[in-house]
Amino acid sequence: MQGIVGVYSKKNAVRKAINMLYGVQHRGQESSGLTAAGDNSLRTWSDVGLVSKVFNEQFNPFMHPNDYLVICSASGESTGQGQLPPLKFESENYAISLAIDGFIPNSNGLANEEVFGMKLISKLSHAPLEKALTETMRELENAYYSLVLAVHSRETEQSELVVMRDRWGIRPLYIGYNDDDFFVASESAPFDLLESMGETLNIRGDVNPGTIIRRSEEGMSETQVLDPTPAHCAFEWVYFGRPDSVIEGRTVHNVRKRLGHALVNTHAMKESINHTVLIPIPDSGRSVCTGVAEALDITADEGVIKNAYLGRTYIINDPEYRKIASDLKHNIIKETVKGKKVIITDDSIVRGTVSESIAKSLLKAGAAEVEFLVSYAPIYYPCFSDPPDKPLTAAQYKGKSLEEIGDLVASNIPSINKVKYNSPRNIIKAIGLPLSSLCTMCIDGKNPLTNM
Ligand code: 5GP
Ligand code: MG
Repeated sequence: MQGIVGVYSKKNAVRKAINMLYGVQHRGQESSGLTAAGDNSLRTWSDVGLVSKVFNEQFNPFMHPNDYLVICSASGESTGQGQLPPLKFESENYAISLAIDGFIPNSNGLANEEVFGMKLISKLSHAPLEKALTETMRELENAYYSLVLAVHSRETEQSELVVMRDRWGIRPLYIGYNDDDFFVASESAPFDLLESMGETLNIRGDVNPGTIIRRSEEGMSETQVLDPTPAHCAFEWVYFGRPDSVIEGRTVHNVRKRLGHALVNTHAMKESINHTVLIPIPDSGRSVCTGVAEALDITADEGVIKNAYLGRTYIINDPEYRKIASDLKHNIIKETVKGKKVIITDDSIVRGTVSESIAKSLLKAGAAEVEFLVSYAPIYYPCFSDPPDKPLTAAQYKGKSLEEIGDLVASNIPSINKVKYNSPRNIIKAIGLPLSSLCTMCIDGKNPLTNM
C-alpha cells in the first residue's frame, strides 16, 4: 500500500506536499519519494525510510521556488529491487512520473508504476495525452489504482497534475481545491491540517470512481471515463484508514465505534463484566474500544503500552523475528491488569502472532484471563491484491457459527481464552454503505474485479 499526494500550487508547492505526505505516512513506511516540476523538466528525489528521514537538510537545495507541481508517496511496497516510487518515464513529447496506491496484476513481477507507465508511454507514441490516459484506463480492466501523475510537456514547457481512480474506488482518494491551488491525497485527514495552516478550500471530497482529473495552467477538468461500480475496501474503515479521515462520507473513528457497539450487542456482553478491565491494543484497537466502553457503560483503561519506535511489526516476513519485534513493542501496566479478567480490543486477527504476544504478556503481568474482541469479522480469504503467504487463522473454520469460530480460533492462540468477532452484517451496517458498493472479499470471497 502507499500514501499518495499531489499538489498544484504557485506558492510553496513542495513544502505543502511534504506537509500532506506526513498525513498519509501510515499507508506506507518503507520508502518516501517526491517528483517536483515547473516549466523546466521534472525531477525526482526518493530514498528508503520515513518522510522525516528522506526530506532532510540534503533535500533543501533540491527545492526550486518555481516548482508548481508535486506528486509524492510514502510507500510500503517492498524495496527489494528497482527504483523507488514515484517512477519516471519518457516519451518523445513528455516526461512523466507516477505513484500508485493499488494493484496492477502482471506476470513479470513488475511494480504497479512500471506496468501503468509503460502502457501510457506506448499510447503517447500515437495519441494525445487525454486519449492516451482514457485508453490506458479502459484497458486496465483487472487493475485497481488511486494514482497521481506529474506530466511535463516538452512542447508547451508546462507541467500538469493528473489524478485517476479505478471504477471500483477500492482505495480511497480525496481532493480539495480553490481557484489557485489543487490538492489530492489518499485520505482526507491531511486536508484538515492544510486548512488549519491557512489554506482555504472551496471544494473538498472523494474522487469519483472511474474519473480522470487534470489540473494545469488552463484550469481543472474532470472526465468520467468509466461508469462507477463502487467496491470500496471495507478494511479501510476497520484498519487502514486514519481514525480522523472521512472516507466516502463516513468518519473512520465513528465507524469503528459502531463496530464496538455491535460487538457488545452481538455477544450479549453486558452481564459478564465483573472484575473486568477493558483495554485497547494501541493504536488499531482504540476507536473500537471507545465504542465497547460506551455500550457497556464502563471506562476503558490503559494497560498495553506501545513503543512506537519499533515501527510496524506485522509486515516483518521472518516469523521468528516478527514475534520478537512484537514482544519488544508492547509492555503491560501490571497494576491495571493484576487479578482481573482483561478484555482487549483490536481490529483483526490474521496470523495471531501479535495477539498471542500481547495476551501472553498480559498473563505474565498477572491477568486472570484474556478475552479478545475483534472489530472485524473472521478473515477467510487472502486479499486478491496480497500474495497469499499469510496463514489466515480463521480460514479453516469457514461455515461455522461466529461463536464457534471464536472458540476455535481462541483454542489456537494459547494465551487467549475467548475470541469474539463481528459478523459481516455488522461490518456493513457500521460502515453505513450498501454491501453492493463495498469490497468484503476477505470475509465473503467475492472478488469485485472478476465478479466471482
Ligand atoms: P496478528 O495478531 O494476526 O499477528 O496481527 C494482526 C494485527 O496486525 C492487526 O490487529 C493489525 O492491527 C496489525 N496489522 C498491521 N498491518 C496489517 C494488515 O495489512 N492487515 C491486517 N489485517 N492487520 C494488520
Ligand atoms: Mg495493531
